[in-house]
Amino acid sequence: MDAQQLAAAKEELERLRREVLREVQATGEASRQLDTEDVPDIGDMSTRSYDRDLLYNLSEVQRQKIRDIDAALELLAQGDYGVCVRCGEEIAPKRMEVRPFSRYCIECKTEVERFGE
Ligand SMILES: [Zn+2]
Repeated sequence: MDAQQLAAAKEELERLRREVLREVQATGEASRQLDTEDVPDIGDMSTRSYDRDLLYNLSEVQRQKIRDIDAALELLAQGDYGVCVRCGEEIAPKRMEVRPFSRYCIECKTEVERFGE
């Protein structure tokens, strides 16, 4: 990757990070609202706890995403961005475009998913 691509990647990662943080914030507010609402009947309550599970899962996914983005920003700072952390091969630019915090090339990703890291 050349300097221009790296700068674009950094910008995209920072944008994604802000986006996730905004989502987390919105989720936090929605979750507080659920907590302070009155609970009129049981039927309503089960819907509500389902919502809360959903929110909890969502924030877990978001936390993971922030971690992935931070790891990518660190790789970028070290000059190792866009290189597979497993085999050391350059990751396809198309893949980095779709998922700028990819740490594995497509081959390794497939193997990691199948056999673990
Ligand atoms: Zn690889």
